[in-house]
Order: sequence, then C-alpha cells, then structure tokens
Amino acid sequence: MKATCWMGRNTVEVREVPDPKILNSRDAVVRVTSTAICGSDLHLYDGYIPTMKKGDIIGHEFMGEVVEVGPKVSTLKVGDRVVVPFPIACGNCTSCEHGMFSVCENSNPNAGMAEKLMGHTPSGIFGYSHMLGGYPGGQAEYARVPFADVGPIKIEDGLADEKVLFLSDILPTGWMGAEMCDIKTGDTIAVWGAGPVGQFAVASAYLMGAERVICIDRFPYRLRIAERAGAETLNYEEVDVLEALRDMTAGRGPDACIDAVGMEAHHPTPAMYAYDRVKQAARLETERPYALREAIMACRNGGIVSVIGVYGGVLDKFPMGSLMNRSLTLRGGQCHVQRYLKPLLAKIRDGDIDPSFVITHRMRLGDAPRGYEMFKNKTDDCNKVVLTP
Ligand code: NAD
Ligand code: ZN
Ligand code: ZN
Repeated sequence: MKATCWMGRNTVEVREVPDPKILNSRDAVVRVTSTAICGSDLHLYDGYIPTMKKGDIIGHEFMGEVVEVGPKVSTLKVGDRVVVPFPIACGNCTSCEHGMFSVCENSNPNAGMAEKLMGHTPSGIFGYSHMLGGYPGGQAEYARVPFADVGPIKIEDGLADEKVLFLSDILPTGWMGAEMCDIKTGDTIAVWGAGPVGQFAVASAYLMGAERVICIDRFPYRLRIAERAGAETLNYEEVDVLEALRDMTAGRGPDACIDAVGMEAHHPTPAMYAYDRVKQAARLETERPYALREAIMACRNGGIVSVIGVYGGVLDKFPMGSLMNRSLTLRGGQCHVQRYLKPLLAKIRDGDIDPSFVITHRMRLGDAPRGYEMFKNKTDDCNKVVLTP
C-alpha cells in the first residue's frame, strides 16, 4: 500500500510499504477513505518530537471502511464505516474506566521510553513516535486499529466524510479545551491560536454558554475563520495582547484562557522569539512556550488555563509566580477522544456544528508532501488539509 512516511526533519514521502495485518485478536484493519494533517503532525515534521525513525508511517486523523476484524471484535463487521480516535485505548484499565482514554495504561508497548521523559506514560497514539507506541499511522491506504472494539465509532447515517472526519481528533480536542474552562453563562474566554483546533475551541466555548470568545493569532485569514465561528479577534503583530485583553475585560482578564498553540509558538519580537528558538535548537528546552506564558499572565485572578496545544518535554521561564499567587488552575491533556464521540456526532447530526468549515485544501494522498509544506508555511491561506487515498 501507499503511506506517508516521516523521512527526517521537513521531509515526508509517500512510499510503497507492506499492507497492515491483524496482529491481535482485538485489531481491525481499516481502508482509509479520508485522513487529515494536524498541527501535531507539524511538531513531527519540524523534528521536535523525539524517538521518530526514518520511514515511520504518520497520521492520526483518519476514517474509513472496515476490511478485516480480529476474532474478539464483535462490535464491528467488514463493511462498517468508522471514524478512528487518535489515542489508542484498551477500555479496561483504570484510566479508561474513568474516561481518561488518552492516558490508557495498556496501549503503549514502549512505556519505559515515555516514563523517562514524563514520569508515567500516556496512551499510545497512531503515527506519533516510538515513545508513544511506534504505531503506524493513518495517512495511508490502510491502517491497523488496535482495540477496535473500544475506539472507532460507526457512522451509519450517510454523513459525508468531511462532516465526521474531525471527530478523530480536532473537534473533540477543541471541545475538551473549552470543557476544561468550566464555562458559566456570561464568561469571557480567550483562545491563543486560530488554527483548526483553536477554531473548534471557539465554536465549542459558545456552545457551552460563553458570552465572548476572543481569539489570538497573526494570520488574518485564520482570524477571519475564527470570526465566522463568532470570535472577536486580536492580531498579536498589531496589538499588545495583554494590554488589549485587559482593555476588553474592564481590567480583569478573561475568565479562562485556552492554549491552542503548543510547543512551536511564534513571537512578534525577534529577540524574545530568538530566546526560545535558540534554547530549543540547543535542546536546553524542548518547547517555545510563548503563548502559554501569555495565557497565564492574561488570565483573571482565580481563572483557568486550559492547555490543548501539545508540549513534548520541558520549558523555560514558566510564570509560576503568577499561577500560584493568583490562584490559577492549570489543566491539560491529549484529548480523551473516545469520551466525546457519541455526543459530538449527535451535535453534527442535529446541525449544531458542521466541522467541515475548517477545510481549505483537498488533495490526493500522493500530494501529502505538498500538503505538509503548505500547512506548515501557511501558503495559499492553508488552514486544514484533507487527503484521500
Ligand atoms: P496549527 O499549526 O494549524 O495552528 C496553530 C496556530 O497558532 C497558528 O495559526 C499560529 O499562527 C498560531 N500561533 C503561533 N504562535 C502564536 C502565539 N504566540 N499567539 C497566538 N497564536 C499563535 O495547528 P492546529 O492543528 O490548530 O493545532 C494547534 C495545537 O493543538 C498544536 O500544538 C497541536 O499539536 C495541538 N493539538 C492537540 C491535541 C490534543 O489532544 N491536546 C489534538 C490536536 C492538536
Ligand atoms: Zn491531531
Ligand atoms: Zn486503557
């Protein structure tokens, strides 16, 4: 089959690789009909996630048709259409029983590698480094889905791929980012990053009763998409974000702040950007946490900072004094996608949200290298790339 392979920093290739096979009794094999490139894939592409190997198949947002099931999968049959969540979860461990699927205790065969960096291991993730399981990903013609009796959700009512594909990751991620804010009617929420994840966080915050959602980025075309989802916007290259947020909230700050940027934040001041860029390149910190620092400083006293942007390791100049002295709460997580599949599918079916609004580019799988370049460099107003094998 053809699959998108990580070949080193800034290089992916669509290569001919062996077809996946059923390895365990709870596996299924899915013929991929749609897959997408995520901001998290850019952290791989840019070389910031450790333990990638040349030739690794990447991609963790995918859906398709079941073509084979293992003997213990009774919930799916050949021919079913499914969306596959990006975290791999067993459904039986204590974490899974508590709905914390992205920290499943049984799905990372390379747990020891993650424990060295993080103390304990999160779940395995499709196509996301050996430290997170070394599972082949879904930007491919076929994918093996472990614990297929737990993760995939069946799509039975003919909804188009583009409407349901993002249940695999970014829609539930934006939703969880907003949910972690404990939104009360009338709240003001600020969202750093007007990428697809930030855009879904904006839409979700409104669905949860926020009165105002303010979204921050520097790309006008992305801010416009956030505006269509209802957001007020700030371009951080034009205004001082902390000052602007104080002005917009009568000096108090937003009730909660969502970091939908993660470890590769950009900064408008060259010297500040260079500080993190150089330390990251020298591996003195693994992150460029500029948006996170700003989100903490901006949040009102007693507010919540919700981190859905991905971080890999350790960071620098973390404003702990602000967090501690002002009674802030910091929350984060890879999305527990499995928990949100049914309720969010119902919202799509009921027309409360149509997630396809984030898509700007549709390409064939073979064009994945071009898709990665455009999505990374934000050329041609690229917001979200969907690939079809
Ligand atoms: P993206 O790269 O398309 O968007 C990131 C946006 O952040 C860009 O528009 C960029 O201009 C903006 N940005 C950069 N620096 C900024 C700053 N200082 N202030 C404000 N905005 C800034 O990525 P995406 O697909 O939207 O994903 C966003 C983040 O969410 C990534 O870190 C990704 O890894 C993460 N993610 C997390 C999960 C999860 O489960 N927690 C799931 C999916 C994606
Ligand atoms: Zn993703
Ligand atoms: Zn589990």
